Amino acid sequence: MYDSLILGAEPSPALPPNEPVKAYAPGSPERLALEAELKSMMANPPEIPLVIGGKEVRTGRLRDIRAPFDHSLVLGRWHEAGAAEAAMAADAAAKAATDWARTPYRERAAVFRKAAALISGGWWKKLAAASILGQSKNYHQAEIDAVCETADFFRINPALAERLYAEQPRSDEFETNIMDYRPLEGFVYAVSPFNFTAIAANLPSAPALMGNVVVWKPASTSVLSNWYLAQLYREAGLPPGVINFLPGASRDITAALMARPDLAGIHFTGSTAVFNSLWKTAAENLSSYRAYPRIVGETGGKDFVFVHPDADLEAAVTACVRGAFEYQGQKCSAASRLYLPRSRKKEFMDRFLAELKAVKMGSPLDPSNFVNAVIDKGAFDTIGAYVDRAKANPSCSIMAGGSRDSSTGWFVEPTVIMTEDPRAEPMVEEIFGPVLTAYAYDDSDLDAAYRLVDQGAPYALTGAVFARERADIDHALVALRNAAGNFYINDKPTGAVVGRQPFGGARASGTNDKAGSFLNLVRWTSPRAIKENMAPPRDWRYPFLGT
Ligand code: NAD
Repeated sequence: MYDSLILGAEPSPALPPNEPVKAYAPGSPERLALEAELKSMMANPPEIPLVIGGKEVRTGRLRDIRAPFDHSLVLGRWHEAGAAEAAMAADAAAKAATDWARTPYRERAAVFRKAAALISGGWWKKLAAASILGQSKNYHQAEIDAVCETADFFRINPALAERLYAEQPRSDEFETNIMDYRPLEGFVYAVSPFNFTAIAANLPSAPALMGNVVVWKPASTSVLSNWYLAQLYREAGLPPGVINFLPGASRDITAALMARPDLAGIHFTGSTAVFNSLWKTAAENLSSYRAYPRIVGETGGKDFVFVHPDADLEAAVTACVRGAFEYQGQKCSAASRLYLPRSRKKEFMDRFLAELKAVKMGSPLDPSNFVNAVIDKGAFDTIGAYVDRAKANPSCSIMAGGSRDSSTGWFVEPTVIMTEDPRAEPMVEEIFGPVLTAYAYDDSDLDAAYRLVDQGAPYALTGAVFARERADIDHALVALRNAAGNFYINDKPTGAVVGRQPFGGARASGTNDKAGSFLNLVRWTSPRAIKENMAPPRDWRYPFLGT
């Protein structure tokens, strides 16, 4: 019986290697294979069902998937779930729960290891192509996200879980002590954002790996790639009902699921406002839950790049081009506020703006485009409104970009704003688009500059400092200790890799439970400490009672 509870594994099994990043150079086999997959996917738009208890469910409420870079391109249609299907999904999860919780860990892990192997072996094409088409990612962005990070979560989380399970209390010849890492009692509600296919993979799979059952609501704007993930789970042998795929009306689904007494946890990534609303709903319903739900949320960011007066400007410029504008700035970690030393502002800006002139924007189907379309009309309008307000703000000047074009797709030019006010709106609020706002600080008072960075926005997700001297790096590390959950020295603030940079931030950026580390997995267990006494006492009298 013990064997099914613990693994007896060595305490620190080595982590599997990361999935190698393919280059997609012109004429390379991977590029040819991906291009063939893109053509085939465009020619065969799917009609995407829900998956509840392993069965495909069609509601008849069909919604189009349109390419963000070309409104006329319909990539498929999906059936929209509502409250009734949410109840069905939670019931299906409940039905699957007992068997899945009893499934030995190594078998649960095998499903996800198999999913990773399937990705490396060929499914990478589907995941990459669907993310390029449906989420407007260029080849490289699709590769590092939908292919590599997804495979990394599926491969590395099991090794991290094994380390966790191996963490066992001390026993001796008279007693055996075991930590039984039980799944939570009930279902986990996983709500994923559009911007990373890998996050959509991790949010349901991390709790499922730990023995939980899940109702997964993907974002409406990433249903295409997320549907391939749902199919991948089936192909990898995940039993029916363990992860239920429920694209649909967020409010109705959320209201139905969060009213259930068996809501055991929420695994969310998305905006701070939506996370706050989920937490409030959980608090309102608290007395009706069987247990306190685990609430894990990774939310927004206002990520900084701080350039020290002594920094290598070429490296800092490169980090800003990539960190602010890759995937159109639609990364929670994207650089969006830049602090330049007044003494080198001109030098930095001259180089930065020159580099930006070489950045091309357009369809991701043309791989020479570095910047592609933003996700949808809502994002296009919101980002555009921020830029328009910056144009009207006397403290702000538009240094690059500032235009947008929705004639074919949702294209927003990479935009650089210079402001004289470190509290100007685009310096403080998450825009979630290709907009970087810069402020020049007074070089003679670095402490004051670091205070501005630390207090400049409510978020604390990622941040980067460019400096050369160890003492300067140490100064920044101390002054900005709480300003970012992922802190980069001489590197861009994006691109965290599973097993290397566990990801997440505090303050308004979330609960900092670090996706891609045991810290996240531990939230999906409810440990039971078991003691077995090999020599139980047979006399209740303690010796001290003697006289
Ligand atoms: P979003 O908050 O709009 O949506 C996230 C998910 O919540 C989607 O599935 C959406 O359908 C759902 N949702 C929306 N309204 C809801 C409601 N009222 N009730 C329940 N669910 C609801 O975010 P998005 O636009 O998909 O993603 C962008 C946001 O995500 C940004 O703020 C970004 O910073 C954040 N993000 C954070 C991280 C991180 O790790 N910290 C990673 C990726 C994205």
